[in-house]
Amino acid sequence: MDKLQCISITEMHLSEAMELCTSSGEHSYRGKQMLSWIYDKGATQFSQMSDIPTSFRERLAATYQVFQSKIFTINTSHDGTEKFLIQLPDNNFIECVLLRDGKRKTVCVSTQVGCAMDCKFCASGILGLKRNLNTGEIIEQVLHIKNHLPSSEHITNIVFMGIGEPLANYENVIKAVRIINADWGLGIGARNITISTVGIIPGIRRLSKEGLKVNLAISLHAPNDTVRDKIVPSNKKTGLKNIIDAAQEYFNATHRDISFEYTIINGINDSIQDAHSLAQMLKGVQCNVNILPLNPIKEYSLAPPSQKKAEMFCTILNNHGIVATVRQKKGSKVNAACGQLRLQTQR
Ligand code: SF4
Repeated sequence: MDKLQCISITEMHLSEAMELCTSSGEHSYRGKQMLSWIYDKGATQFSQMSDIPTSFRERLAATYQVFQSKIFTINTSHDGTEKFLIQLPDNNFIECVLLRDGKRKTVCVSTQVGCAMDCKFCASGILGLKRNLNTGEIIEQVLHIKNHLPSSEHITNIVFMGIGEPLANYENVIKAVRIINADWGLGIGARNITISTVGIIPGIRRLSKEGLKVNLAISLHAPNDTVRDKIVPSNKKTGLKNIIDAAQEYFNATHRDISFEYTIINGINDSIQDAHSLAQMLKGVQCNVNILPLNPIKEYSLAPPSQKKAEMFCTILNNHGIVATVRQKKGSKVNAACGQLRLQTQR
């Protein structure tokens, strides 16, 4: 069968894998065995699943595949950050990143090929949106990294912060979250999973009713609508007030603090007044703010402010009683800006 049309097992929830087995005349427990081979033992081929009858493995291989994507390149930074360029069956590329911080090993995954949001500092949106990733293509990013890690290292956290807007690919992302969270899947707790959005309000409301209790991060990047309209075009439709209200609803439903991501850009959103306005806007919201110095890309003439200025911005927020941190740039030698490596390769 054409591999492009072949369904990948990484697409499947346990119930679907069991159903696949029973509909093939096998015991349903074979489904659990199959997934255990993929999620616990790192199998990438049916032929490796030695406790499943050979004849069934051969039938499976004729119609299904375990993985649909493959690692194209891995770039490693001096700080241990590794950026993986993943090739999809239709020859599109996406990125996923492994970030090391002591015992914490965070995998940042992509959810779309490209992005429609067109944020004015981001490489991911430059070629526009090509398509959504299916659930298996999301899961495989984590599995590629898991299988690449030495046995002494384990993935502890997942962030949906790579290429694409996760809540614009809602069903596939939520199914991937359930597989990542499941005992029979990757077994990563909801508290260690973060979905980052530019502020898709219906998506935030829907997520608050999923019962998943994952962390929500909102990419704010501006202290008011005037600035945000310029650098995050989707803001013209939503507006900051509606986003903050939706964030508050998410907190009320889940009791999870909201993270606000603030990419700080020299001369755009980094003034003392901007810090005070941001603090005013977030007053009373149970949140923390991550200040992220811009990773510059050559396509845009934007730069981060000095470290001192970023720290000053942070101190002003702290003085207003807001928990805020300046995050160090990771992986600056590996085309760390979101979508940069893909952009170069795809071109
Ligand atoms: S910052 Fe996020 S939402 Fe904006 S263009 Fe980049 S990937 Fe899309």
